[in-house]
Amino acid sequence: MKSKKTAGLILAMVLCVSTVLLAGTYGPLRPFVQSVKFVQPQTVSTIAFVNDQTEDELMKWIKSEAVKQEKPPINAVIDRVWKAIPGYDGRSVDIRATYARAKQLSATPLGDNPIPWVYRTIKPKVGLNDLPLQPIYRGNSAKPMVAFMINVAWGDEYLLPMLDILKETGVKATFFFDGTWLAKHADTAKSIIALGHEVSNHAYTHPDMSKLGEARQREEIGKTEALLKNLGVTNVWFAPPSGDYNSSTVKVASEFGLRTVLWTLDTVDWMKPEPSAVVAKVARSVGPGTSKGALRGMIKVIRAKGYLLGTVSETLSPERVDLRL
Ligand SMILES: [Zn+2]
Repeated sequence: MKSKKTAGLILAMVLCVSTVLLAGTYGPLRPFVQSVKFVQPQTVSTIAFVNDQTEDELMKWIKSEAVKQEKPPINAVIDRVWKAIPGYDGRSVDIRATYARAKQLSATPLGDNPIPWVYRTIKPKVGLNDLPLQPIYRGNSAKPMVAFMINVAWGDEYLLPMLDILKETGVKATFFFDGTWLAKHADTAKSIIALGHEVSNHAYTHPDMSKLGEARQREEIGKTEALLKNLGVTNVWFAPPSGDYNSSTVKVASEFGLRTVLWTLDTVDWMKPEPSAVVAKVARSVGPGTSKGALRGMIKVIRAKGYLLGTVSETLSPERVDLRL
């Protein structure tokens, strides 16, 4: 799937890259994920006693606003073009907990202290696991998140600067390792893991998977999977080299508990395109592209468009990103 434009949300970007280490800090997602935990209703165990006019008004207001705050869940579907598209959780307002928190924080509907909405998650009826086995090209378009897929197969010269930029900008990405590369660079892989990035499977010898029989495909995926296991990684994805796959690929990957994941826009090589051209391309479509100069620009443009940057797992999970206090 080359240079496909996506409406709205994009899944991934591929920077077909290379070696080395470094990077860290929290991405924008972490605070969200952590704050979601605090959103659980049990954090507010007492309900203030409603005994005067003001409180009644507050409750009334919360109840009427709560309807507008509600978001229905979206089921996972099989799309003709994009194959499997994950679902997205819905949310409803926990009225009593919101009321209690509002009292606790002296929040008022129109004051400086806005109402601290407490939400409940509503799971979609249909998730990815309920659908026939299909590859995934993108996340749910209701989820404002983009993931960088960084396929690492050769060359060492670009990985380090790239990791530096990811660190500076607080972005967590998903690195797909070619097994031949991984066998030689386990230390580098460990550093990437230690920095909080997700790591995953990009076959063993960078073959066109569709040209291989099932047994050879199994070997390609299996050998790299074994190396990942040695590093203590619990992997869930397989990104076929060059985006080439057939139905056996998807099936064989699933035997290892992996989902085949591709990217919505094909990559441009890491250093080849002019940075400005790549940034322009991203700006047009929130698509990818690469190159040292361009990565920073891409991150900026993606964020300016209101998207969060997360790993492939974060981007494809049904978890809402707006459940915060
Ligand atoms: Zn590749």
